[in-house]
Amino acid sequence: MQKSNIPNKILKWYDNNKRKLPWRKKTSTKNREYFTLVSEFMLQQTQVKTVIPYFESFIKKFPNIKSLAEANEQKIIKNWEGLGYYSRARNLKKTAIKLLKEFNGRLPKDLEKLKSLPGIGEYTSRSILAIAHNKPYIPMDGNVERILKRVFLLKKENEISKENLIKKKSFFATSKRSNDYAQAIMEIGALVCKPILPSCILCPLTQNCKAYKKKDFLIKTKNKFNKTKYFVANVYEHKNKYLLIKNKKFNFLKNLVIFPMTEINKEKFKQSARKKINVKMSNMNMKIIINKNNKIKKAKGSFFLDESNVNKYMLPSFTKKIFNSLSHF
Ligand code: SF4
Repeated sequence: MQKSNIPNKILKWYDNNKRKLPWRKKTSTKNREYFTLVSEFMLQQTQVKTVIPYFESFIKKFPNIKSLAEANEQKIIKNWEGLGYYSRARNLKKTAIKLLKEFNGRLPKDLEKLKSLPGIGEYTSRSILAIAHNKPYIPMDGNVERILKRVFLLKKENEISKENLIKKKSFFATSKRSNDYAQAIMEIGALVCKPILPSCILCPLTQNCKAYKKKDFLIKTKNKFNKTKYFVANVYEHKNKYLLIKNKKFNFLKNLVIFPMTEINKEKFKQSARKKINVKMSNMNMKIIINKNNKIKKAKGSFFLDESNVNKYMLPSFTKKIFNSLSHF
């Protein structure tokens, strides 16, 4: 498979076919950072065509990071109305405040620093680095995954694993136009290599694509519930108060309040005679050992919550399930 000209083919296609999207308008570097931030938050869970009018009116009301950081939260929520997933709007404001305070109102150019901002995870941080800072990242979204699955005709469970898809991403190589390149690949996935009927005739990758050669376009998706992970939830109780922590450690339930937890292997889980519970998440099946512990181990971001406040406090249902299981000890 000839790889050297892949970026050229993809960028040529992009230059001729890209959609005119309001966040792609030519603007100053500072504005581009802000446009990328807002559009990436809006595009989490929402389609491009739905986002366009919201983005345009949002930018008019809150034209830069400062105005967003200083705006009343209710006003931000009001302007988000209809997009759903309102935690995104709240996190966007929190991120704007943090950017203003700690980063001089600019988006950091470092992956870990970006991931420390509310509402910014693995995917969004990589998108920001590519789109706002022209760094050679290709964020892995559903579009990129689909192209790779077809180009390499990946069907088996181990072939479509996240780890393997990340390895296969080297197919795309890199371009000096990292900003355009990341968007170009995602755009091909969205407009050409569509889930049901790919428009191969318009695609710049036909010569490199196994699915095209075999006329087999069926996409194999991973059985999400095949993935089972094992954890220990440490329950520290002191005078009817429980130690909780804001989750920075795991990619699921990011920034939400959980019991302090560690991931363990299946063997350790099996060997434990302690109480166990099952929690089904959207992307995995969690098997959790409830480990009541008398030794308090406070960590950064941890705090005590009074048992009587469990229902008043905004807790994820995941954490409530662990609380509920405690009453059956
Ligand atoms: S040739 Fe067809 S199947 Fe292959 S990447 Fe392009 S659109 Fe997708």
